[in-house]
Amino acid sequence: PTFADLGLDPRLVQAIAKEKFEKPTLVQRTAIPLALDGQDVLAKAKTGSGKTLAYILPVLQSILKRKQTDSTALTAALILVPTRELADQVFKVIETFSAFCSKDVQTTKLTDKVSDAVQRSLLSNNPDIVISTPAKAWQSIDSSSMKVDKLSHLIIDEADLVLSYGYDDDLESISKVTPKGVQTIMMSATLTAEVDTLKALFCRSPKLLDL
Ligand code: AMP
Repeated sequence: PTFADLGLDPRLVQAIAKEKFEKPTLVQRTAIPLALDGQDVLAKAKTGSGKTLAYILPVLQSILKRKQTDSTALTAALILVPTRELADQVFKVIETFSAFCSKDVQTTKLTDKVSDAVQRSLLSNNPDIVISTPAKAWQSIDSSSMKVDKLSHLIIDEADLVLSYGYDDDLESISKVTPKGVQTIMMSATLTAEVDTLKALFCRSPKLLDL
């Protein structure tokens, strides 16, 4: 299939064309239709597979769709990553692929470099997408600077690394306050027993893509 065949918004297809990405990768062509259909997904995908775009496109699509009828500023997607470096990369991918709809999509990155005061102000406008490590995310939720009650998407990228960094307590706390119906997409290079525990914590019968 082409990206357009996957049922993506023309503004996203336009950005993909500008990047000269001709065909979706394996994880993209398997995960994107499931994610657009609202299903939870756990995909075995490592760096280089195109995993980032596999969840960014459905997240952007969902935000664009809602904004056609609802202009309320709310945080719809929380993307949890193990490191600041990955947060930077994901932020760039969002920038690139929302190039034709950027005024509709506000993204904030929480990293350990940002002071608490700046963090609060970044979150006060309820950005559509927040990219964060689990620790910063939980800190922001716990201090009421980030509202997650309207969250529609929760992403955990490099889930196995997130766990190896010791973020399990933060993840458990986050799982308790995210809305019941939130759609979860998890990417992991390996499918370990720990990733299974995380799956049980966040997913409703996810589609497993053991690619
Ligand atoms: P990721 O696995 O998400 O870290 O992506 C690895 C690299 O592949 C990134 O540099 C992307 O820009 C690139 N990439 C992602 N999807 C595609 C695609 N469908 N066609 C060509 N390159 C891609």
